[in-house]
Amino acid sequence: MRVAVLNKDRCQPKKCSLECIKYCPRVRGGVEAIVMEEEKPTISEELCVGCGICVHKCPFKAIHIENLPEELHEEVIHQYGKNGFRLFRLPLPKRGKVVGLLGENGIGKTTALKILSGKLKPNLGRIEKEPTWDDIIEEWRGTELANFFREIANENIKISFKPQYIDKLSLYKGRVEEFIDEMGVKGEGLEELMDKKMNEISGGELQKIAITVAMEKPADIYFFDEPSSYLDIRNRLEMAKKIRELAENKMVVVVEHDLAVLDFLADIIHILYGKKGVYGIVAGAKTVRHGINLYLSGYLKEENVRFGEEIKFEKHPPREIRERETLISFDNLRKSYNGFELVVEKGKIYKGEVIGVVGPNGIGKTTFVKMLAGVIEPTEGNIEAKVKISYKPQYIKAGNGTVRELFEENKDKFHLLYEKEILNPLGIKDFYDYELKNLSGGELQTVAIAYSLSLEADIYLIDEPSAYLDAKQRMKVAKVIRRIMEKENKAALVVEHDVYFIDMVSQSLMVFSGIPGKKGVARGPFSLREGMNLFLKDLGITFRRDEESNRPRVNKIGSTLDREQKAIGEYYYEL
Ligand code: ADP
Ligand code: ADP
Ligand code: SF4
Repeated sequence: MRVAVLNKDRCQPKKCSLECIKYCPRVRGGVEAIVMEEEKPTISEELCVGCGICVHKCPFKAIHIENLPEELHEEVIHQYGKNGFRLFRLPLPKRGKVVGLLGENGIGKTTALKILSGKLKPNLGRIEKEPTWDDIIEEWRGTELANFFREIANENIKISFKPQYIDKLSLYKGRVEEFIDEMGVKGEGLEELMDKKMNEISGGELQKIAITVAMEKPADIYFFDEPSSYLDIRNRLEMAKKIRELAENKMVVVVEHDLAVLDFLADIIHILYGKKGVYGIVAGAKTVRHGINLYLSGYLKEENVRFGEEIKFEKHPPREIRERETLISFDNLRKSYNGFELVVEKGKIYKGEVIGVVGPNGIGKTTFVKMLAGVIEPTEGNIEAKVKISYKPQYIKAGNGTVRELFEENKDKFHLLYEKEILNPLGIKDFYDYELKNLSGGELQTVAIAYSLSLEADIYLIDEPSAYLDAKQRMKVAKVIRRIMEKENKAALVVEHDVYFIDMVSQSLMVFSGIPGKKGVARGPFSLREGMNLFLKDLGITFRRDEESNRPRVNKIGSTLDREQKAIGEYYYEL
């Protein structure tokens, strides 16, 4: 079957000379394979012969044409209008199980969630005459999906949904307690937040509130779209535990890109593959271990489909580099605010190095970096030299203008490699002409990362780059950060809570511990092994290595491996 998709945001008929129509051989032969309808071209999938000329001729790369196996024709679940994105097949929720959806952004995960939760009625690809619920159920007769959707159609299933973007909750005018009351839940575990205003709390706190509200709502099926963004590791694991408990007698479906958390959280995985923004296919159910390994391998064995590059993990810690040039050193720094104190032990940052920074929110990571930058003075202790810092904050807000304007207007502040080593590999130019305000969360995050890495500086502080990025984008970003530091001989501090990302990006680790908002102690940078041991010991968790993929997997607390590893002090790497 042929799928022709027009990206309406990209298509700009006023700025082109309608190349798609002009060069179409069928149009030239008098067949209306592409016509203008309501100021945009419409491609007829029946009349198109799939030559691909319009795809190449369009100056804005707005057209995608794919030839897919004929049998998929029967399995269209939903199509967003003429020449719109198509979703094939659906995951099936299961009582007593946590079902995880895994796939890159723009591949249809949210669409699947919306359909399963009854928010979006699937149209089975019938654009002209939308099917009724009866038609849909008839179409799927005899399958488990038919039973499921009969309940959805009759509103016999109660739904609870934790949406992806929780930043919007901060628009609520009022205190946390009022919000919780309005939602009609108790807000267990949120006692300390109750008196705070919704617009004054952190993203991690908003996330906790959103998850708690969704969990406490009485329902039969629960959806969590990216529950781990902005949470620190301890909170992520606590969240995962609670969701698992919830699933004991309910149906739960999650979308999660932190693979260590997903591994711990889900029982079953459905991988979504295809072409982002064009079509997505939901692969069959796999066990969580096998599913994540397949996703990392980039190859679906059972379906015989290659959908990406392999992501590799090292079983053993990286070898330490001996001779390195110091970029900056610091010695017993102390910074006191009203009610908060940060102590930084002696340490050195080397050129060319990426340092993972781990620790809870509110523990003094930003305070430390501001001292390095000379933005604030330490109360005690000294920093040998002041360095120039480029900073990507945790929360990003889109400014005005397009992506192109952002990069072109600031060109004189960038180092020479920015285009080749940053914009190109991160694919920034794919959305160069988009308004910053219209970017998706993942696109905006990528732009913010690219921008801060492009600036000329000595140290790059990248605070939670993984938020809203899918697992593949995370890997790409990790590679770009490493390469640019190596090539420019600069250093990066990457604050992250996603263990797989830390593993991919960093050569050493700084560990912040203490009591958030009260007292922080910063130690390191250490080697990855030493740092992970210190950090994980504090958290009380250990990781084993998956035999097939070498990826770290959280051990069950108190299991044999957990106890053995704790006894010898190896929390992260095998001996
Ligand atoms: P994911 O959750 O995997 O990032 P989505 O399900 O949100 O993916 O979106 C998949 C694709 O569907 C997007 O790339 C977009 O092009 C398209 N899409 C999503 N919502 C709509 C809509 N309301 N109208 C038209 N197209 C949409
Ligand atoms: P992190 O980056 O680890 O999230 P921060 O360094 O931003 O932590 O903050 C650590 C603590 O210091 C927080 O409790 C914060 O409220 C407090 N803090 C940060 N800046 C100031 C300031 N200018 N005045 C008073 N307190 C501050
Ligand atoms: Fe112009 Fe491309 Fe849109 Fe066709 S698809 S009208 S060539 S921008």
